[in-house]
Amino acid sequence: MESLETELDRARDLDVAALADAIESIGFECTRCGACCKAVDGCDDADGDDHVATVFPDEVRRLQRAGAERDDGDGDDTGEDNGDGASEAYDWRDVARPMPYGLTDGPDGPEGETFEWALRTDDCGDCRFYAEDESETGEGGPGRCTVHADRPLVCRTYPFSVALGGTSQPMGEAVDSAGPAVPRADGTAAGGSIDGEGIVRAHECEGLGRDISRAEAKELATTLKERAVRELEEAIAVRNGYEPVATGPSGVVVHDSEGAKRPDGSPVER
Ligand code: SF4
Ligand code: SF4
Repeated sequence: MESLETELDRARDLDVAALADAIESIGFECTRCGACCKAVDGCDDADGDDHVATVFPDEVRRLQRAGAERDDGDGDDTGEDNGDGASEAYDWRDVARPMPYGLTDGPDGPEGETFEWALRTDDCGDCRFYAEDESETGEGGPGRCTVHADRPLVCRTYPFSVALGGTSQPMGEAVDSAGPAVPRADGTAAGGSIDGEGIVRAHECEGLGRDISRAEAKELATTLKERAVRELEEAIAVRNGYEPVATGPSGVVVHDSEGAKRPDGSPVER
């Protein structure tokens, strides 16, 4: 992989129109199947994998505020009916959990150092903001994001990602790609994405291949570029600010672009 700075320059140079062309050629319309918001196998399988989606610190804070701003009709709208008639912001832990990668299982739970945050999951391993509308039969209906307007960049751009080093890849496997070939450091085109074709990757999603309007493709492409730039800026900030922390037994430390934090989002005092 090239340096993160090189990849950031490439991300900043991405041509939105070319990304939109690629998205249009692949095609996409969300069917609200919920697969990108749920655990793999979830409650049905003890060995299933929890949902994992990166959420950056400012995105966590926006989701916290969303808890206070929602109105579910009970006057509280935290998603928890405590009947006090007041809206409350989500706690940091309600929104985010330490990214599980790199943590080890200790006697009292996970421990160690990790990088960045993942969206909080529920008991089934699904994103805690995912809900299924009741169908007429009383069984699960179409999926719904309860924080749609405030969802993180990775959710806004699913099922797409860009094939640049240092950017994050969503849970689903990459199954297709399109658009300009991935550039090499020497200025030639490497054709280096998953199937040797384009810089826009498409991940597992039943909505792929459906017609998408030019306006929607352009909006997605704009957000995809914003996400790539943002992910690389975050990665550079984490790398530059990283100093190891002795976590001790049962301790978890999360390094994000703002420094080292406890699982409740508070800074680690050094
Ligand atoms: S997997 Fe695709 S179709 Fe299903 S909810 Fe996610 S984006 Fe929509
Ligand atoms: S925040 Fe919304 S879109 Fe993102 S994983 Fe959760 S339910 Fe899905």
